[in-house]
Amino acid sequence: MRGNEELDLLAVFTEHAVQVLHELGAPTLSRNGEVIALAGVVVVEVEGAQRGGCSLLVVEELDPFLEHHIRAMGIEVMGKNIIPRIGELNVDIVQEAAGVGRLKSHGPNEQTLEPVSGLPQRPPLLCAGCPHSGLFFVLSSLGQRGVLPGGKERPPKLIVTGDIGCYTLAAYPPLSIIDTCGCMGASIGHAIGLEKAGVKEKTVAVIGDSTFIHAGITGLIDAVYNQSRICVIILDNETTAMTGHQGHPGTGISASGAKTTKVELEGLVRGAGVKNLTVIDAFNLPALKAGVKAAIASKELSVVIARGDCPTLTRARTEPLAIEASLCDQCNVCLLVGCPAIQRNDGGVFIEASLCVGRGCTLCQQLCPRKAIYTTGAAEVKGE
Ligand code: SF4
Ligand code: SF4
Repeated sequence: MRGNEELDLLAVFTEHAVQVLHELGAPTLSRNGEVIALAGVVVVEVEGAQRGGCSLLVVEELDPFLEHHIRAMGIEVMGKNIIPRIGELNVDIVQEAAGVGRLKSHGPNEQTLEPVSGLPQRPPLLCAGCPHSGLFFVLSSLGQRGVLPGGKERPPKLIVTGDIGCYTLAAYPPLSIIDTCGCMGASIGHAIGLEKAGVKEKTVAVIGDSTFIHAGITGLIDAVYNQSRICVIILDNETTAMTGHQGHPGTGISASGAKTTKVELEGLVRGAGVKNLTVIDAFNLPALKAGVKAAIASKELSVVIARGDCPTLTRARTEPLAIEASLCDQCNVCLLVGCPAIQRNDGGVFIEASLCVGRGCTLCQQLCPRKAIYTTGAAEVKGE
């Protein structure tokens, strides 16, 4: 850092840092700046950094990866000397770092904005049209976890060990069906451990395709080798959704984005010695119910691959579904699937058209006992 000069540039890698910069009226990302892809993170050289006349603060989580690389580019930079390595980088921490780094104000917005009150509450949920929603709804039903508003809680059944991915959100209501989450690949080891420790309840491990290939295959081999009778469910959305849709060996897309040999999950699972394998369409609720029930009831190690596209990757959408008010009896059952497009207000349950992905999903339609949910569009008939 140069003497006592004010900090006037920040490289921004977290949402909280963006928020702080906006509040301070400081420049964030220069549209004229050079954008460099570095390990999947966008490094933006803010206008002027190349001239060497500016200071730079890198706000990044964990290790000073970007900080080191930017310094290696010959750019003066601050980072882990004021940004902690552990814990979430919340607004207060980033704000304090900006103060320590003498962030220069660039506009009239110097005052801290008061939080806006009265915003609608939104719990953490899987995305609308998520291929994992149906599978978790089935597990939630079998495990007696989902409870309708005002409904009575029942003693939980099943133990579901979770893993690292966007599907960990199924730990939250209304699905409430992830019981453990350790580290990448831990779901299968946790399930084996519980079974071997004598836990009577059937244990089910859920793990995404990317995580399975990264760190779950060793657990599955362990389950085969130690004759475990757990059920393993691989949530195959053919991408690494949580961290930005990177390819992995099961996608046929290499780390550089080129086409490459695809590692087939079915072959991998069977090659490990699994005899009981079922592949199910993740948007077919009856098939999911039957397949998961059978896999859980199995007396041997069973594996289910629930396969369906991630809607945030494919962007595939049709006309949204809608609820026919004259057929809906407000039973609220459709809310249990945990889709953020299905909402409730004073007028009852409705589908937010801007969120619903349409006919590629239809999970709520398959679920509605009153057949009140219909696909919109010229050829469709309400209530059928
Ligand atoms: S749309 Fe169907 S499931 Fe949803 S509240 Fe109405 S009747 Fe119940
Ligand atoms: S079809 Fe139903 S469950 Fe699927 S995205 Fe639309 S509202 Fe959500």
